[in-house]
Amino acid sequence: MSYERLEKCPVCGKTELQNKLVVEDKSVSKESFAIQQCAACSFQFTNPRPDFANIGRYYESEEYVSHNSGAGGVINQAYKVARFFTMRRKVALLNKQAPRKGKLLDYGCGTGHFLAAAKASGWQVAGLEPNPRAREEASRRVGQPIGMESLLTFEPGSFEAITLWHVLEHVHELNDTLQQLIRLLKPDGVLIIAVPNVDSLDAQHYRQDWAAYDVPRHLYHFSPKTMTQLLKKHKMTVREVLPMMLDAYYVSMLSEKHRAERGGGLLTVLKAGYKSNQYAAQHDGQYSSLIYVVARR
Ligand SMILES: [Zn+2]
Repeated sequence: MSYERLEKCPVCGKTELQNKLVVEDKSVSKESFAIQQCAACSFQFTNPRPDFANIGRYYESEEYVSHNSGAGGVINQAYKVARFFTMRRKVALLNKQAPRKGKLLDYGCGTGHFLAAAKASGWQVAGLEPNPRAREEASRRVGQPIGMESLLTFEPGSFEAITLWHVLEHVHELNDTLQQLIRLLKPDGVLIIAVPNVDSLDAQHYRQDWAAYDVPRHLYHFSPKTMTQLLKKHKMTVREVLPMMLDAYYVSMLSEKHRAERGGGLLTVLKAGYKSNQYAAQHDGQYSSLIYVVARR
């Protein structure tokens, strides 16, 4: 197994890194990983981490529902219901934020639910997905071939919108990937990036049990402050930040599961999710997960 250690902060480039937490990979490997924080800009990231060639095996789990929509169980059923409403909202958001309906790239499209919904809404769609099983399912669902990973197959300046739904936190080459994606955008195109928020109340409440740390699959743990700084470096501006309120409940449910064998009851989960959203409403929109709508400055 090969690990790599980042010597400097991927956001600001400074080298003073502090240990913040040790988090166990409860869903796949049971290995523990350190989360470090940059002393200068406060960006948090998993460090050291499995290198690109060795991260694949950390995704090999039936529990990894985003890559396996065929799984059963109560949690997955709830996930599917939530996904239906989330998908509708994502497409509405896309239609509202994009300069016009045109070409869409969904980077890390998983099993293709969002792409299929966007296509049905009139978008010309393209998707990339590294996981072979998810990619195959996405190709079937969307009704067209889905690529593996390379952004080089696309013409620069060709997309009205590029979406990354809970994907950027998984990408090894953070700055290179962002730069390539931005190059593919039309001058007035938008980048829509959804990621968990490490400054949310549920992150503070569950600490090392917070399910959205999801080490080592999540390499970066963004906050509005660090995401804004990262995008500014790439000459992009955050036009709007929108909440994903269902995530507070979903993440609280998984976090409770991490804490105890049987997890907190339904009431505990509902209370935790509700409190997280209440806190965010009163504290600068620090919701459990956030959608950043990003455009050129
Ligand atoms: Zn930094």
